[in-house]
Amino acid sequence: MALHRKQPETFPTIEEKAAWLDETYGHLSAGEIVRVSIETLFPGAIGTVSSFGADSAALLKLIADVDPATPVAFLDTGQHFGETLGYRDDLAVDLGLTNLQIVHPKADALGRFDPANDLHKSDTDQCCDIRKVEPMARAVAPFDAWFTGRKRYQSAQRAEMPVFEAVGPRIRINPLARWTTEDQANFMRANDLRENPLVAFGYLSIGCFPCTQPSSDGDERSGRWAGQAKTECGIHLDGLVAIDGQGDAMNESKTKIWNGETFIDDEWIEAETVADLAPSRPSILPVAEWQALGDEGRQAHGAPIGVRLEPGDDIAAIIEALDDLPIVALSFPAYTDGRSYSKAVRLRRAGYDGPIRAVGDVLYDQVDHMIRTGFSELVITNAPTIAKLERAELPGIDHRYQPSLDEEQKTNRFTWRRHAA
Ligand code: SF4
Repeated sequence: MALHRKQPETFPTIEEKAAWLDETYGHLSAGEIVRVSIETLFPGAIGTVSSFGADSAALLKLIADVDPATPVAFLDTGQHFGETLGYRDDLAVDLGLTNLQIVHPKADALGRFDPANDLHKSDTDQCCDIRKVEPMARAVAPFDAWFTGRKRYQSAQRAEMPVFEAVGPRIRINPLARWTTEDQANFMRANDLRENPLVAFGYLSIGCFPCTQPSSDGDERSGRWAGQAKTECGIHLDGLVAIDGQGDAMNESKTKIWNGETFIDDEWIEAETVADLAPSRPSILPVAEWQALGDEGRQAHGAPIGVRLEPGDDIAAIIEALDDLPIVALSFPAYTDGRSYSKAVRLRRAGYDGPIRAVGDVLYDQVDHMIRTGFSELVITNAPTIAKLERAELPGIDHRYQPSLDEEQKTNRFTWRRHAA
């Protein structure tokens, strides 16, 4: 048995490393895979993330038998069944797990997107992004590899999964990939493992309380997001890859420019002062600096110079120069500050047809209204927003009562408040 076959010192890519590991060790039993991974392949740099659901005890038992100090992360979404939380604590004691790590969603993301804890009613993908995917990325960030308890029989998406696979810069290991329901049941019985109490009530796959029902028709995952197309929360999908490696992900990730249809390249450099201007590079200056530079200074720069207005700035400062402005950036320093929407409308009504760029706190819920009010470029740093747009989940609502540049859609409610007397 090739438990200690020497690894090449380097691999050109993480995918090639995963393929080599899969070929070399993927055929071993689940227990052997766990042991060789902890002791030989990734000593001190491996952990697991457990839901403490219906099947979790088996993998945790295999890990505890090798090293009970292996980190076990639990994503506390804030929406778990009380039974799951109790089971987590009891099972950790049963198995002697000494490194249980509870990972919470970010408070600022919850406050911003889900203050009433009911986002799951309107947008399960975003809810999972905030409560599971981003915390998952933080949970695995310290590791070179982590274990999952996934099995091939559980869904079509999992049917082909290898035992060792590359996810971003890390290796994900699925030691139970080949297990059947019978293997799982036999292992639970043979080791007298405690079961999540919800299993007795027909919950064969257990997630958050609002999104989990008892399983039906022999399909153990049928109770997850029942009635929706959604089958996975995203921690096992591309969403994790998208934010992986960014440590403090989701809120401070990459920056992308959305033009209402697609992402575009950015040629503009934001400079805070005239002294910061990069020679001969298209740049955007705050309005006070733009005024201080004057016409002559702007021409001498050798590249276009645009202007940025904060919510408190008056567009009167640029209204005479609209014909010459290559770009206007309007700032949204906070989600709750909507003054820049009005500025965009006023600029368009004044005849400005150049790019109007939204910068600052640009979030998914604002995208539709920004486009409607005349913005043509949105600078987005919020990772959930980027991920949704990358998935072509375009925001939009059926009925609007705010006036804007597009044709007003009359509804039966509230429009009287906005009509001119
Ligand atoms: S499973 Fe439901 S409640 Fe839990 S994070 Fe996802 S959408 Fe939110």
